[in-house]
Amino acid sequence: MKIDGNTGVLGIIGDPVAHSGSPSLHNFLAEKLGDNLVYVPFPVKPQGLSAAIQGAYRLGIRGMNVTVPHKQTVLEEVTELDDAALTIGAVNTLVRIRGGYKGYNTDYSGFMRQLDHDSVIVYDKPVIVLGAGGAAHAVIYALEKIGASEIYLLNRSRDKAEKDFGKRKNIRILDFEDWEKIPKAKYICIQCTSVGLAPREKECVIRDEGFFELIQTGVDLIYDPRETVFMKKVREHGGQAYNGLRMLMYQAVSAYELFADREVPEEVLEELYEQLDP
Ligand code: NAP
Repeated sequence: MKIDGNTGVLGIIGDPVAHSGSPSLHNFLAEKLGDNLVYVPFPVKPQGLSAAIQGAYRLGIRGMNVTVPHKQTVLEEVTELDDAALTIGAVNTLVRIRGGYKGYNTDYSGFMRQLDHDSVIVYDKPVIVLGAGGAAHAVIYALEKIGASEIYLLNRSRDKAEKDFGKRKNIRILDFEDWEKIPKAKYICIQCTSVGLAPREKECVIRDEGFFELIQTGVDLIYDPRETVFMKKVREHGGQAYNGLRMLMYQAVSAYELFADREVPEEVLEELYEQLDP
């Protein structure tokens, strides 16, 4: 990687950020595509967010990704907001514009690109969503955009789900224990809780075998481990299951496309995926 007087700086702000895979993904893309860009981690505490964004602008930083714990609070700091990010209520990408940054959410577009890649057809189909946190907000936005017929939303804190989604007529909110109230049919199920994430990879948010009879296609947003208990159970009951690695890759690619104002060609995507999952 050659750094010179014209190198554009990108980065990720969060706390912590040292574990983030984003720098290697974005630097791989910049190098492959011959873009004069470098991407670095910026650890930023909640109380420093506003000053960090103003400082980044003054320093000429071209764009940044935003991760935990700033994805919601950063909405207060942007100069413009993309419609999807506004509806989802979270920003994970900041693109430099005149006077500040425009906030986007590429988790939802990354999720849509993963569904597309894995040929999961959501249009006019009923979907079960497990979890109602930040990732579920992006997933539900995408599912509604691509025409899911109805959504059964199961969350541990039902009040949280009711507060955010209670008024949506195509969304029915249930407790995990009430999964049997879901009408018997075949569903696409998106696992959006953090249950099952390493090092607690033996856990699964629902363990009842009968639940897995309902699932034709399961997508777990978790990618560490590569096969979660949720995915294993979907497969044992004859369904197809995918982890969230493609979503991770595509949300980074969508952000890179905004930063660099170009499309990433298909052959580079496949090379990038191989880097993630050798
Ligand atoms: P979050 O906002 O903290 O939400 C966590 C969700 O998990 C909430 O619904 C929470 O329920 C639920 N949960 C946590 N512990 C639970 C437990 N013991 N039992 C039942 N439910 C529990 O996190 P997030 O940002 O949405 O991320 C969720 C997962 O998605 C993480 O594993 C993350 O790594 C993954 N993710 C993947 C991608 C990707 O690109 N593949 C992108 C974003 C996120 P309550 O509401 O009751 O707390």
